[in-house]
Amino acid sequence: MSTLQITDGRVLFPDMDIHEADVLADQGSGKIVEIGDTAVGDQTLDASGGLVIPGLVNAHCHIAMTLLRGYADDKPLDAWLQEDIWPTEAELEPGDIAAGTRLGVVELLKNGVTSVGDMYFEVPEIAAVLKNAGLRARLGHGIVTVGKDDADASADFQQGLNVARELDGAADGRIRTALMPHSLTTADSELLEEFVPKAREDGIPLHYHANETRDEVDPVVSERGMRPLEYADDLGMLGEDDFIAHGVHTDGAEIELLAERGTGVVHCPASNMKLASGIAPIQEMLDAGVTVGIGTDGAASNNDLDTFDEMRDAAMVGKLKTEDAAAVAAPDVVKAGTEGGADLLGFEAGRIETGALADIAVIDLEASHLTPQHDLVSHLAYAVRGSDVRHTVVDGEVVVRDRSVLTLDEAAVREEAERHATTLIGRAESDR
Ligand SMILES: [Zn+2]
Repeated sequence: MSTLQITDGRVLFPDMDIHEADVLADQGSGKIVEIGDTAVGDQTLDASGGLVIPGLVNAHCHIAMTLLRGYADDKPLDAWLQEDIWPTEAELEPGDIAAGTRLGVVELLKNGVTSVGDMYFEVPEIAAVLKNAGLRARLGHGIVTVGKDDADASADFQQGLNVARELDGAADGRIRTALMPHSLTTADSELLEEFVPKAREDGIPLHYHANETRDEVDPVVSERGMRPLEYADDLGMLGEDDFIAHGVHTDGAEIELLAERGTGVVHCPASNMKLASGIAPIQEMLDAGVTVGIGTDGAASNNDLDTFDEMRDAAMVGKLKTEDAAAVAAPDVVKAGTEGGADLLGFEAGRIETGALADIAVIDLEASHLTPQHDLVSHLAYAVRGSDVRHTVVDGEVVVRDRSVLTLDEAAVREEAERHATTLIGRAESDR
């Protein structure tokens, strides 16, 4: 067996204890096989002066939206989607999505992200990019039926189901899938009733935006006389492998429902702040036993894919929401950004322990903003930046070494993305 030995670093363990250890990964199974004074590996990765942590999980993203980074800011969700984002996305071609995905993947890998939940279009293009780049992901086709006739709407759902069936297990199992209707208000309810059971038959989980803004909650309450997550439950959309994004406007009964059903929530605090959507009641969810992960959402509403930033935001807004400085504490956000997200995506990752997937990031601690080192868990939540990541390992393979992405040519990726972004916006604006 071929092995990778991560040497001479301090290691963050699942109980948040940190001590020096080597980590040995088997590259065949992609798993951690030994921790401590390990046998010498076939390959070594120097972690001296560094902190070895589980790779971060960006559990809700639209990676290719990097092409729209900074294109339309400072608008509420509804107007932003309808006036700027959807008209531009209507012009997307497969090559644009591949280019935007490559750009986002460079950023994710350099920020220590080892797996991602991604909802977008042209999913086979995305899967091909991720296969070569070495990232792990749960992917789905974003199903939006607003403005479509019955035939097109049904075809969109069918495409979502086909993609989930066909791509599951791709890239040696690094790619898994889900059925991803955009939200309860943007995906037709009769088609949800038709297609959710079809996904269930094949064991395909669901991922969708829910309770993101009040405008998503109020119409459901007035039309159906129930809260959105109660409606989702009626539709069979709260399974234990399912996970929702946002959950900003969830009440106590909905949080109980999530806990009972085992449905997880991806918290996207920067996107929620930028679009003025509100603050998700994360401490209440944690208290109720809901699994919480962290997501950046797309780069058009963030505007970066730095998941360390997102953990810091989660801790900050969690305190603001409850007016309690003890809420959403550093260990909680570090767990959410690693094992919480991995649990939502259904990967045996997010923990440095024997038998877990060898998805690992090494943080360079030799930096002024990380000095002194009283508490490294505090640093991970509040002081580490994505740019402090020295190495990233996915499935036992080194994908970033000494801040350089090994699987993609970063300069070429940036040049290609710039070109695609410019021509995409040109097409979208000439149509108006
Ligand atoms: Zn989203």
